[in-house]
Amino acid sequence: MFYKTIEKDKLKLSFTSYMRRRPELEEKRLEIHTALSKIVGKEDVVTEESQLLSYHYSQLPGGIPLRRTTVAKGMYVIVMADFAVYPETTEEVQEIVKLANQYIIPIVPFAGGSGLGITAPSGGIILDLKKLDRIIDIDEISHTVTVEAGIYVFDLENELNKRGFELEHYPASYFCSCIGGFIGDRSAGRLSTKYGKIEKMVLGMKVVLPNGKLIDTPKVPAHAVGPDLNNLFIGMGGTLGVTTEVTLKIYPKPEKRTFKSFLLPDLDSGFEAMRKIMQEDLNPCMARLYDPIETNSQLFKYHLVTPPSREKLESMPGCC
Ligand SMILES: Cc1cc2nc3c(=O)[nH]c(=O)nc-3n(C[C@H](O)[C@H](O)[C@H](O)COP(=O)(O)OP(=O)(O)OC[C@H]3O[C@@H](n4cnc5c(N)ncnc54)[C@H](O)[C@@H]3O)c2cc1C
Repeated sequence: MFYKTIEKDKLKLSFTSYMRRRPELEEKRLEIHTALSKIVGKEDVVTEESQLLSYHYSQLPGGIPLRRTTVAKGMYVIVMADFAVYPETTEEVQEIVKLANQYIIPIVPFAGGSGLGITAPSGGIILDLKKLDRIIDIDEISHTVTVEAGIYVFDLENELNKRGFELEHYPASYFCSCIGGFIGDRSAGRLSTKYGKIEKMVLGMKVVLPNGKLIDTPKVPAHAVGPDLNNLFIGMGGTLGVTTEVTLKIYPKPEKRTFKSFLLPDLDSGFEAMRKIMQEDLNPCMARLYDPIETNSQLFKYHLVTPPSREKLESMPGCC
């Protein structure tokens, strides 16, 4: 068996790729390696185990290991993917999917890695899509943008801002997540109260299906007949195909945006206020309710409240 081990403070962490731990699969592993190198180029296939290990950590503070098995007290084993590959085009993704079918090995699409569900317990190929990061078209007349799925949303937003537009999708992880990941996880942003979650923004998608064929949904704001195939793929977590290209709705940058806070005596009156705001269609871009602890830590501790509201906050313990 082939294991690499890290030891720290009486903790032993061993890691190995799925095929490497089984010598009888070594020939098959080398064959797949050669075939992948032909598709994406040698330098875009990773088999070094310490590099593969990085795909098993989340971007949460502290980098929580995603999947490990305890084999004895203080001893853990992580079984990893066998390859990480970086395709640059939809066609390369199609070729990789066909190859995985030929050898019957799993594929795990990987974007920013900030979701918590990505792991390869049965080995196979981590399809890191971050080289598919081009902006294909910004249509300032129709207010749409077409991008490849591996683009970081932070980079896309910067480019849109230069042209006077915004995406209006700002999950707390938007600085470290990609469009394909947001679609994979059906994400919600800070302004989703007004602009909707990611499913409301997607107009069209290119998805490589599990047999390697490509589906290209129409880039239209609404369908009159038939099922909306986009919604089949949004939230699929990489289980039904690999998204390679997406057309999204964009908005002209607002001239002004104002945020206000209101103090309410307790959590119940906060819920009541939120219910009325929503049911009366006041349509704020954001509505958030903080409980007493968070109200104090967010507003008071970080000096977001200035006099005279500061005195008011101090005189209302338990307020939200
Ligand atoms: C600090 C922090 C704050 C967060 N805040 C929010 C928040 O406000 N709102 C929210 O909704 N989530 C939030 N999340 C969760 C996470 O960021 C989201 O789920 C995000 O959508 C994941 O994007 P990613 O690019 O990191 O995707 P990944 O984590 O890499 O992938 C997510 C899933 O999609 C699949 N996938 C990725 N790309 C593709 C593709 N091209 N085709 C097919 N499948 C694909 C993956 O296999 C995986 O199952 C937060 C996470 C962190 C760490």
